Amino acid sequence: MHRLRALALAGVVAGAALVPATAAAPRTMAAPPPCSEEPRENPISEFTSYDELLVELDRVERVSTGRVSVEEVGSSNRGRGMMLARVGTGPKVVFITAEIHGNEKTGPDALLDVLDYLGTSDSSAAQQIRERLTVVAMPKINPDGASLDRRGNDLTWQEVQSRFPQLAASPPPWNYITDQRQGDDYSQRPGFDVNRDYHPNLEYQPQPQDFPGSSDQPGWFLSPETQTVRDVYKGLQAEFGTVDTYVDLHHQGACYTVPGTDEFVTMSLSGKFVADPSTPEGSAFADFADTYRPEYSKQLNVAAYNALQAAAEKNPAFGNITLYPQDINLPGTGLGAFQLNGSGAVLFEVRGQTQTLGEQHREMLTKTVHIGLGGILSSVASGEVEQLDPASYDKIPPTDRGQRTLGRTTDIED
Ligand SMILES: [Zn+2]
Repeated sequence: MHRLRALALAGVVAGAALVPATAAAPRTMAAPPPCSEEPRENPISEFTSYDELLVELDRVERVSTGRVSVEEVGSSNRGRGMMLARVGTGPKVVFITAEIHGNEKTGPDALLDVLDYLGTSDSSAAQQIRERLTVVAMPKINPDGASLDRRGNDLTWQEVQSRFPQLAASPPPWNYITDQRQGDDYSQRPGFDVNRDYHPNLEYQPQPQDFPGSSDQPGWFLSPETQTVRDVYKGLQAEFGTVDTYVDLHHQGACYTVPGTDEFVTMSLSGKFVADPSTPEGSAFADFADTYRPEYSKQLNVAAYNALQAAAEKNPAFGNITLYPQDINLPGTGLGAFQLNGSGAVLFEVRGQTQTLGEQHREMLTKTVHIGLGGILSSVASGEVEQLDPASYDKIPPTDRGQRTLGRTTDIED
């Protein structure tokens, strides 16, 4: 891995050496530096750790003088409390989760910034959000994976079988990780890709015939982490009727580009996660055709996109936003499951996980998430989101996923 990195650096240096020091090199002529997806060990200490999150949430709650409330709503498999923060008293609920993949770390930091803002700002914009919305945030929904700085959680199939005796003779599911993944060795500490463990039927109980499953099939709520998020979602349904908006914060490959440019994608967006339940492709979930609101998901994405394009006047990187691939059917994701249940849904995919980018661009990428969330919250609170044209979503440029990548590309997961 270090060899590839060294090659990349050598390429940059060699390219520069070709230009005489006195000449004003036309920047557009230089080949862009290559980019590597090869996993490597990177420091992560600038990101908020689990223990730091507890301290920060406590601080935010305190300085908000009653506006932000924090509670522990469940426990990870290794006993870490699953934390939830709530701010606002409005009739519409916006539910936001982050770091279900433990190597995707800008989400918790951005959520802390948003909570701090909503808890302390007396601006009219913050007041409007607090009056019209209830914002519910879970900043680290895979705290065991986060502490290991890896994608999966820390849970063995044997532990699952002991809790679900009906699975004693079943094979482990397809998303159980026991080998190498994204540079992490799971052989001594297996785990699951928790973001394939959801089921659109929130009352589902695991059945032996549903194993090992596959990516286009729903999950099973095997992990304590997804059980907790599901229970929070059900509680919000009971309280608010519908969970108006659900946003899940992720990271993706480090080397994707904006089509037709040499610009790296800062963040990709999506509002589509499952086949439309009113079509033959989505017929497995036809029962959800009445609650599925794809146009509203598009409007929410446009709200985030517009806010970032406006911010690009200050930093062009905020404008490098693309659409995540749309030809997916992932009913085992939180976004897919909750979207079928009637939530407008938004996926944020920030550039580069910790094994590739580490802390590089941390502040800018965290700010990108913050701006995008701010666009959604203000647009939903003001009602402007209802006026946005869903067709604008389809005009967001797609993601160019291949041009400048060095190293393995088969191991990139979002
Ligand atoms: Zn992810």
